[in-house]
Amino acid sequence: EKVVNRIAAGEVIQRPANAVKELLENSLDAGATSITVSIKFGGLKLLQILDNGHGIHKDDLEIVCERFTTSKLKEFDDLKAISTFGFRGEALASISHVAHLSIVSRTPNTQCSYKASYLDGRLKEKPKPTAGNVGTQITVEDLFYNVPTRQKVFKSPSEEHQKIANVITRYAVHNSGISFTLRKLDGETALSKGVSVKTQAGATCIENIASLFGRSVGGELIEVLQEDKPFKLKINGYVSNANCSMKKMVFLLFINNRLVECSGLRQALNAVYQAYLPKGGHPFVYLSLKMDANNLDVNVHPTKHEVRFLHEEAVIESVQTAVDAALLKCDS
Ligand code: ADP
Ligand code: MG
Repeated sequence: EKVVNRIAAGEVIQRPANAVKELLENSLDAGATSITVSIKFGGLKLLQILDNGHGIHKDDLEIVCERFTTSKLKEFDDLKAISTFGFRGEALASISHVAHLSIVSRTPNTQCSYKASYLDGRLKEKPKPTAGNVGTQITVEDLFYNVPTRQKVFKSPSEEHQKIANVITRYAVHNSGISFTLRKLDGETALSKGVSVKTQAGATCIENIASLFGRSVGGELIEVLQEDKPFKLKINGYVSNANCSMKKMVFLLFINNRLVECSGLRQALNAVYQAYLPKGGHPFVYLSLKMDANNLDVNVHPTKHEVRFLHEEAVIESVQTAVDAALLKCDS
């Protein structure tokens, strides 16, 4: 049974960046305004996330790693979201099957933090009182220590570091105003030098894009803001104008606040830009789509973050039109 769980967990958490994504989403769900991720050896040796969210109650600390039991999803609507966005309520459980996991957390109405540790989906050490601020610190050590086949996959910690930085960068753009920090704790780098991603509390989305993606994004970013009523589709975001010179297309896509991939949409938007960009240029596109979960395809593998839409052509056309309209407006 242990082995089966471990294999299942390895499907959910395929590399450190997947774990970071899940942990970030939990911190955001907890209303955090400050999130710091610290890593060693590309997150494989250590991956720690500290937030100032509402914390986990001592009693809940005992069960957070039991699959599905802690899921926030209690309503029927949310159950649909489970099938569309894959698993829910099993990120911490999965991590505990493939790493050493411990949690320190404090809720606003308690005087101290509690620390607990977990192994294979179960509480290993009961919550013990300890000092700490309101919020949660999750420590993941020796990721995949018990999955030799996984260990072989990771050739370079710097590649994993880059993937983690990518995830944090994207969530920082989508959640501007929240302070995100990524620190690398290993090597000769002093603490302050090890910071590779940093955004400020209160920053705007445009400020974050400029600071995280640099000047090549273009002279100015164009706001996309459109609603497709028949599809109950809201399209929001910022895209580069015709002056941008990214080395390749940068496409940040959030659907219902989750970072996803959609290659069909990526291609369609690239095509829109061909009419505007001089040869060789590539666009920067950040889009946030809000849509009815019913319009998302349920038959996609949960751990691949690739999504498909029902009425795919219509949705893609709608997004294309929105971006084209934004580009046209700034062209004239
Ligand atoms: P899910 O997020 O789908 O419920 P997870 O395994 O990711 O499943 O998390 C389990 C539960 O642990 C969450 O529902 C939440 O109650 C709690 N939790 C996890 N991380 C945090 C956090 N950073 N702050 C507050 N609560 C958290
Ligand atoms: Mg979660």
